[in-house]
Amino acid sequence: MTPNPRTICIDVDNTLGDYTGALRRYVQDRWGDKYTCPDPTDYDFSWTPGWPFTGRPDRFRKVHSKAVDNGLYELELAYPHADEALRLIHDAGWRIIIATARKDDGGALPVWLADNHIPYDGIHYGDKLDVRASVLVDDRPDTIRAGVAAGLHVFKPAHEYCQWGGGIVFRDWMDVPCLLEVL
Ligand SMILES: [Mg+2]
Repeated sequence: MTPNPRTICIDVDNTLGDYTGALRRYVQDRWGDKYTCPDPTDYDFSWTPGWPFTGRPDRFRKVHSKAVDNGLYELELAYPHADEALRLIHDAGWRIIIATARKDDGGALPVWLADNHIPYDGIHYGDKLDVRASVLVDDRPDTIRAGVAAGLHVFKPAHEYCQWGGGIVFRDWMDVPCLLEVL
């Protein structure tokens, strides 16, 4: 399949917004300082020590669901400069598709994007490769690897758990417009 030119597909959780920080705030509000809640060392949070669900994927899912019920997605902070970077990208003529594998979003995403001043042309739920974008921005190792294998330009944040599978790391969202200029 030919990718759509100048189309960028952007993941939400831990790519555009700080899911880890929002979950950490939920856990520490609920359990105080009992858990240190460090940055995850694996995409699967339950592999990271210091969280209430460490070693228990089933419990992670329960804590996540409870946190979502308590407004986790609404309280997620956009990463610094994401709005500014995406405005530059959009003004340069790129089509921006926000994509998420969330199944429990409940309509929170469009409101969150508006609240955080994120420009976009469409929202896609499900497999990111179905967007047929020319550029993919994501933190999930399996998706990064699939994007690279499909011949997409893949950019990824600097989280420890997504440093394998190819793609180009960015440390600040303002790096992304610069990366696009050289394509
Ligand atoms: Mg993600």
